[in-house]
Amino acid sequence: MKKYLLDLPSEQLKNALGHLVKQDYRIEQIRDWIYVKKADSFDKCLNLPKDLREKLSEKFIIRTLKAERKEKSLIDGTIRYTFKTLDKKYFYAVFLPSKVKGKNSVCISSQIGCQVSCAFCYSGQTKFIRNLTRGEILEQILTIENDTGEKISGVLFMGMGEPLLNFNNVLSAVKSLLSKKEFNIGKRHITLSTVGVIPCIKKLTDENVGIRLALSIHAVDDKQRKRLMPNNMGFEISSILLAANQYLKKTKSRLTIEFILLRSINDLAADAHKLARLLKKNGLLNPNVQINLIPFNPVKNSQFQPPSQETLDRFKNILKVNGFTVNIRQAKGADIGAACGQLGA
Ligand code: SAH
Repeated sequence: MKKYLLDLPSEQLKNALGHLVKQDYRIEQIRDWIYVKKADSFDKCLNLPKDLREKLSEKFIIRTLKAERKEKSLIDGTIRYTFKTLDKKYFYAVFLPSKVKGKNSVCISSQIGCQVSCAFCYSGQTKFIRNLTRGEILEQILTIENDTGEKISGVLFMGMGEPLLNFNNVLSAVKSLLSKKEFNIGKRHITLSTVGVIPCIKKLTDENVGIRLALSIHAVDDKQRKRLMPNNMGFEISSILLAANQYLKKTKSRLTIEFILLRSINDLAADAHKLARLLKKNGLLNPNVQINLIPFNPVKNSQFQPPSQETLDRFKNILKVNGFTVNIRQAKGADIGAACGQLGA
């Protein structure tokens, strides 16, 4: 089988190519073609000798994903991509265009399906199939850049899957995003969203890559959280917040608290007060912490409803009065099923 070069961090890339390519500068040229010039096949790598290009394509492959389907939102220009892997599995990524030139982001997947099974999330209803590899994670971005002709400057690990349950591949991909010779994206522009897998938050703290962490909290007590997020691995809200606090302190990066609002379930004034208290108690009333309120996006077979505008505003104001920075996350691409929680088969 041909080796998939995007799966290989730079040292391994060097070793893999070493049999064919002796000179370091040639290896750097190949790396540059893959990550910076975004070549999707070796014939495009024109500064490499023809016989080398032929030998490379016998042994290696640059891309594996096929963009099977592409849907563009008429509301906001968001594009939802359906990717097919070599083993014929499907998953999704979303291109989020910006009005500001050169400030486009992508929301990418880390797994095919998800094991956490959140009651409000469509990806959670999709059977877990497997982790994506480092290459498959990165290739989503390269394909979208090729297809749109736009440079991506922000990456959200907020698609299908729980990124911290695919820790090694996600970390390897993050290092490639940060690498000056690969994606060269600033750490402040990379966000990893998680339900809060505490041992992995600790590992990420030790790695000190400094990306923005987003925590899907969604409930103000553990009983309610267990109902909404049944496979939360038994981690308590306060322990997750404590781990996040340590992440902030050690890495000096930013934290987002994500809170989905479900009508009459967790959108009451009392819930907002409790959330404020919980965050304060764990040292998270802090200029580097921001709360994102996510009004529920409708998904198939769901018993939930979004909050009313009034409830949403009230929830936001209570948090603001308590001193927090609060944003309401507007749904993007809702008409094509590309908004948070809508990515599923
Ligand atoms: N597994 C990670 C990554 C998914 S991120 C995580 O849970 O954080 C996607 C965000 O959208 C999460 O905060 C998730 O809880 C939220 N979400 C899921 N379903 C949703 C829905 N139907 N409406 C709005 N947000 C939803």
